Amino acid sequence: MSNETLQAVRGMNDILPDEADLWLWFEEVVRDWLHSYGYRNIRMPLVEPTDLFKRAIGEVTDIVEKEMYSFTDELNGDQLTLRPEGTASCVRAVLQHNLLYNAPQRLYYSGQMYRHERPQKGRYRQFHQFGVEALGFAGPDIDAEQILMCARLWHKLGLRDVTLQLNTLGDAASRHRHRARLIAWFEQHREVLDADATRRLHTNPLRILDSKNPEMQELIAGAPRLMDELEEDALRHFDEVQAILRHNGVPFEINQRLVRGLDYYNRTVFEWVTTRLGAQGTICAGGRYDGLVEQIGGKPAPGTGFAMGVERLLALLQEDGMMLPRQSVDVYVVHQGELAGRLAISVAEQLRDSSLNVLLHCGGGSFKSQMKKADASAAQVAVVIGDDEAQANEASIKPMQGGEQLRVAVQDLTAVVARLLKR
Ligand code: ATP
Ligand code: MG
Repeated sequence: MSNETLQAVRGMNDILPDEADLWLWFEEVVRDWLHSYGYRNIRMPLVEPTDLFKRAIGEVTDIVEKEMYSFTDELNGDQLTLRPEGTASCVRAVLQHNLLYNAPQRLYYSGQMYRHERPQKGRYRQFHQFGVEALGFAGPDIDAEQILMCARLWHKLGLRDVTLQLNTLGDAASRHRHRARLIAWFEQHREVLDADATRRLHTNPLRILDSKNPEMQELIAGAPRLMDELEEDALRHFDEVQAILRHNGVPFEINQRLVRGLDYYNRTVFEWVTTRLGAQGTICAGGRYDGLVEQIGGKPAPGTGFAMGVERLLALLQEDGMMLPRQSVDVYVVHQGELAGRLAISVAEQLRDSSLNVLLHCGGGSFKSQMKKADASAAQVAVVIGDDEAQANEASIKPMQGGEQLRVAVQDLTAVVARLLKR
């Protein structure tokens, strides 16, 4: 074995304590927000059968073609994949445990996702999402509510410059018609298509609209529009979503090229984008996926959901100069001598019994150096125990912002400290 320092896998980040404070704060805000809309938590495994993603996301997609971390379980030959997204797993879990057909479900999950992409700012190989899924609701009201929900979260987080892009993908029949017209259009212009597009021409032509290749943009702009093929129902659904958004003051822009990177979407699709994160500007994306449940083996049931990219959202918050108060310590306990050391431990426990955050000085040192650490900890109060105090079963209390030092009996300590902290 070599002695080289081991490094994390490329594109997979450590989140160090200073940054983790922001994550914790964010996760708490998001959970409160989800609960305010009645969503409940579900937790799925990070590893699923590869087939689940092939069936749910679609064989001819970036994710399944080139981004999945798939491997064979050497012990039994199973084909497994580290989840690249959460919707497929969530729907699998709901079907497996028969949660869906008695009552609709509003569910959320969060955690790591894995995609073998080229790492760059805002694009990693391990990243985090909060995913939100509503299963069993067919109407436009839930689509619109999920979008209103997002708008509320951006407001809560104080995010500026996030805009909503909206589109509809219609239903199976219109997509079928549109597909035929798209293929015909692109076939007439084969010489402009790049390798990806040529490969997808007959398997997944809709995906070509999603291409970022500048040389194909003109061709794509002129392509037949799905909007012109929409059936009555789908059109009405889309109109109603828009009406609800307008009624609630959420501006949007219709982007007919928004087709999303996964195959399972139909009808409403949306993305929240910002121009402030360079090319990785989509912070949240989702839409309706009425065919998915059946596609992975359930009785047909409608669904709609979205996922937020946590790294991108936090990057945006940091861009805005978001500063967090450090996780607070209420009390720092300093002590010297054997007897005092023992008393200090039990005093710290006693303070924690009253829900205070307490840092017990460990590792010895002079009172002076310990008080420096107390200062640096930003605790509001230091509790000081020397031999003198220990003999008398007492402790001294020093307010760190100045003020008189007090000496109290150990059994009165918590009450006095609590009173000082309240001030
Ligand atoms: P993109 O077009 O940027 O590749 P996507 O359409 O593949 O995004 P989704 O599958 O819709 O992304 O995932 C939802 C959200 O998760 C994205 O809007 C983004 O914020 C975040 N996300 C997706 N892939 C990554 C990644 N590799 N690194 C960090 N965040 C990501
Ligand atoms: Mg992608």
